[in-house]
Amino acid sequence: MSEHPIFNDEHRAIRKTIGEFVLKELTPFAEEWEEAQDFPSSVFKRMGELGFLGLHYPEEYGGQGGDYLCGVILAEEMMRCLSGGVALGVGVQTDMVCPLLHKVGSESIKERFLKPALQGEKIGCLGITEPDAGSDVASIRTTARRDGNDFIINGQKIFITNGVRANFAILVTREPGSTGSKGITLFVAEKNSPGYSVSRKLDKVGMVASDTAELAFMDMRIPAENMLGEEGQGFYHIMWELQPERLFGAVSAVAGAQITMDMTLKYVSERTQFGRPIGKFQTIRHRLAELATEIEAARQLNYYVAGLINAGKFPAKEISMAKLFAARVSCKMADEALQFYGGYGYMMEYPIQRFWRDSRLTRIGGGTDEVMLEIISRQLVQ
Ligand SMILES: Cc1cc2nc3c(=O)[nH]c(=O)nc-3n(C[C@H](O)[C@H](O)[C@H](O)COP(=O)(O)OP(=O)(O)OC[C@H]3O[C@@H](n4cnc5c(N)ncnc54)[C@H](O)[C@@H]3O)c2cc1C
Repeated sequence: MSEHPIFNDEHRAIRKTIGEFVLKELTPFAEEWEEAQDFPSSVFKRMGELGFLGLHYPEEYGGQGGDYLCGVILAEEMMRCLSGGVALGVGVQTDMVCPLLHKVGSESIKERFLKPALQGEKIGCLGITEPDAGSDVASIRTTARRDGNDFIINGQKIFITNGVRANFAILVTREPGSTGSKGITLFVAEKNSPGYSVSRKLDKVGMVASDTAELAFMDMRIPAENMLGEEGQGFYHIMWELQPERLFGAVSAVAGAQITMDMTLKYVSERTQFGRPIGKFQTIRHRLAELATEIEAARQLNYYVAGLINAGKFPAKEISMAKLFAARVSCKMADEALQFYGGYGYMMEYPIQRFWRDSRLTRIGGGTDEVMLEIISRQLVQ
């Protein structure tokens, strides 16, 4: 979205290629997909063929071997499609499912799930949240009971992005009888496993082109080789996964806010009231100036944190700050934009309402504002 010293010429070339793809192959269909509350799974296949799903994954697994910043660029450019739901669906694959498969997956898992996921041949989802366990991940109840060389999984997951279309789900489970962060283990469950069911597709306020599902598992038998990472260490694996997921959310939020800003700047220079463009009114100009400052500040914090992640560091406090700030700025931008558009902003035919609905998720998904504040405050106040 903007020039910054962390990006080099190669990054700029990648940005141009992805941006052109998005504007040509995704944006023209955004309205249709929003209307249908779904986008075709062929988008994954196409993006896999173009190498966009594996930008920052090693070549040995079918990735492009780029650095983490290539993923940041993808997240930003995807927002140009004007459908947060499409960007979210793809982002779950690139920034939530694949990071875990790559970091803690065995060679067998990488072969069977990571490689096809980077090609867009298999779509994954990540099942952490349950009806009674959201912010408090350590209170999940889905159980995985060992039975010889298999595990038997029982439980339920809710609000799972890509859950309807996914070929496999990474599930956060616990050993029966265990409590808290102990005894938690991750598994990769294939959709065709007996006992795996998509209970329903959920109806949402925003991000409507992404599918969000409730999943149920009844005596689902999973081979031990589908364990992801170490037995009993699942809580720590998930806490690690949430870090890149949160920066992905922050980066997408700022990119969305910038697009909203650009649309609004155009609108306020064209819409005339009281004999002049509304953008000439000082109250509107100054609010836009404030918003532009906040967007820039959020972007700079994101890039600073992205640079740390690129160097192999995952600072929970700074990542939480970036997510908290970016989410709030994007919601504020969307709300003010709607105000500047007046009655037109409230009409479905203008995309501003979509940014207003879509941006709201960033303050909830991947950890709420309150959870971000808790993480930050824990490192501030002893
Ligand atoms: C569109 C969408 C897509 C999603 N995709 C996925 C997905 O792919 N995979 C997945 O696993 N999950 C997904 N989620 C779930 C999401 O991560 C959770 O909704 C989120 O973590 C919050 O959990 P909860 O909804 O149960 O809210 P709760 O945890 O019940 O929180 C309710 C309120 O209480 C506050 N609260 C909770 N604990 C505290 C505390 N200690 N201090 C102060 N306030 C607190 C919260 O901040 C919030 O305001 C998705 C959610 C949505 C809406």
